[in-house]
Amino acid sequence: MSETYTLTREIPVGDAYDLVVAGGGPAGAAAAICAARLGGKVLLVEAAGCLGGMGATGLVCAFDPMADGEKMLVGGFMRELVETLYRRGFLKPGIDPDSWRKKYHVWTPFSAEGLKLVLDEKALEAKVELRFFTRVIDADTDHKKVRGIVLSSIEGYEYIRSKTFIDATGDAVLSRLCGAPCREAGIDTEHIMPSSLAAVFSNLDWSKKNPGFQNPEGVKLIEEEYEAGNFIQCDRHLVGISQIGNSIGYLNGGHIFGLRAARVKDLTEGMLLGRRIVRDNERFLKKYSPACADMELTATASVMGIRESRRIAGEYELNFDDYMARRQFPDQIGVFNKFVDIHPYDCSREEYDRLVREAFGSDRLNPGECFGIPYSILVPRGFENLWAAGRCASSDVKVHGSIRVMPAAAMMGQAAGTAAVLSVRTGRPAWDLDTRELVETLREAGAYLPQRELSETMTRT
Ligand SMILES: Cc1cc2nc3c(=O)[nH]c(=O)nc-3n(C[C@H](O)[C@H](O)[C@H](O)COP(=O)(O)OP(=O)(O)OC[C@H]3O[C@@H](n4cnc5c(N)ncnc54)[C@H](O)[C@@H]3O)c2cc1C
Repeated sequence: MSETYTLTREIPVGDAYDLVVAGGGPAGAAAAICAARLGGKVLLVEAAGCLGGMGATGLVCAFDPMADGEKMLVGGFMRELVETLYRRGFLKPGIDPDSWRKKYHVWTPFSAEGLKLVLDEKALEAKVELRFFTRVIDADTDHKKVRGIVLSSIEGYEYIRSKTFIDATGDAVLSRLCGAPCREAGIDTEHIMPSSLAAVFSNLDWSKKNPGFQNPEGVKLIEEEYEAGNFIQCDRHLVGISQIGNSIGYLNGGHIFGLRAARVKDLTEGMLLGRRIVRDNERFLKKYSPACADMELTATASVMGIRESRRIAGEYELNFDDYMARRQFPDQIGVFNKFVDIHPYDCSREEYDRLVREAFGSDRLNPGECFGIPYSILVPRGFENLWAAGRCASSDVKVHGSIRVMPAAAMMGQAAGTAAVLSVRTGRPAWDLDTRELVETLREAGAYLPQRELSETMTRT
C-alpha cells in the first residue's frame, strides 16, 4: 500500500452487553440463543439480513450427518433445530427421521427459508437482540481482553462494550481484529479448499431418476462435456442436486479454486465465475438427469460458499491423530462422526482421485465410533473473554475437513455461548474456565457428551 489515510471519528457508544456474537450462522445463532436462554444479555450482529449463514444466504441446504449408524451424536440446540424444522415441514418431503437420529453418513436436506424463519423465532423467543445488515469492523483490545467492538451499518459507526465476545464469522474476522493468532489457508497452509456457489432450482420432477455423477461413468460424461466445450473447467467433482421441496432442488456443484475469502477481488471474481459455472451445471443436469430435464434456476446464493479461510490458533489445535484415535477429551463439548471431506484443490485427475481415496478410504470412522471436540479449540490462545466457534475454530487442515460443517458448528456455538455466560457468572476467563461445569451445563441442555472423566481444566497443546 503506497498511500494511507488516517480516519478519526467520534462515534456513539451503544448499550453494554454480557455477550456480543459476531455472525449469525449455525455457530453464531446457536451461541446467541443458548447464551440468552441462560440469562445473558446478548447482542447478535449479522452482516446479512437473516440468520443461518451458509445454510441460508449461502443456499447450502443440507445438514451433514448427525448420527453414528446407531444413535444421534449431535444433541442440544442442533437437535432441537432439526426436530423443529421437521415438525414444521421444512425438511425434505417424506424424509425418515432416522436420517438424522440414527443413520450413518446420511445428509438431512432442508428449506433455507424454513431455517431462516425458525431461527428468527428461536432468537426472538430467547430475547436475543438482533442487528442485521451490520458488520463488526474493528475491536478495542487490551492485552488479550476485548473491551469493545466497532460496528458499521447504514446508521454509521457505533462502539459497543460487552463482557464477552464470540467470533462466529466463519472467517475469524473478529479474532483477527482482536490480534488473536490466526492461520490463513493458502498462506499458512499449502492449499485452500475451493469455494462453490450454491443454487436452488425449481420445477424438478422427483418421481424421475436423478443419477449421481461421482462414479466412473459420471466422471467420463463430465470429461466428455468439457472436451466438447460445454464446461468452463474439467471439474470432475460434481456433488449434485438434492431434493429440498416437492419440486425444488439445491445444487452443490462446481468449484472456484484458489479463492481467498479474505480478498474482495477474489470474492468478486469468484461470484462472476460461480454464476457461469452454475449455468454449465444446469445444462449438464438437464441433459443427463431425467429429474432435472425441465428445471428452472430460481436463485444463486448471494454470498460465496467458502469452505476454508482463516482459523484461530487456539489453546488446543484438534488434529488428525486425535481423529484417527477416536480420541475422547474430558472437556469435549461435542462428538462427531464425519469423514475428512477436503474437496479437490484443483481440476487435476490426481486431486479427484485423492478426494475419492480420502472420502471412502480407511480414514473413515466406522459406525458406532466418534471423536471428541474439546472446548479448548474455541479459545484463542491466552484470551480472557473471546471465543471462536464454527468454521474458524482451531484445528488442522484435515480435521477442519470434518468439523467445518453445520452440525459441528452449532455444537461449538452452543458451547461458546454457554462458556461466555459461565465466565460472566464466575468471573473465570475463557482460558481458565471450569470445563467440568461447562460440560455439565451442556449436558443439562441436551448435549450428548459421553466422556466418563471430567476435568476442571481444559485440554492444552
Ligand atoms: C458449497 C458448500 C457446501 C456445503 N455443504 C454442507 C453440507 O452439505 N452440510 C453441512 O452441514 N455443511 C456444509 N457446508 C459447510 C457449512 O455450510 C459451513 O461451514 C457452516 O455454515 C459454518 O458455520 P459458521 O456458523 O461457522 O459460519 P457461516 O455459516 O459462514 O456463518 C458466518 C456468518 O457470519 C456473518 N459475518 C461474517 N463476517 C461478519 C462480520 N464482520 N460482521 C457480522 N457478521 C459477519 C456472515 O454473514 C455469516 O452469516 C458447506 C459449505 C459450502 C461452502
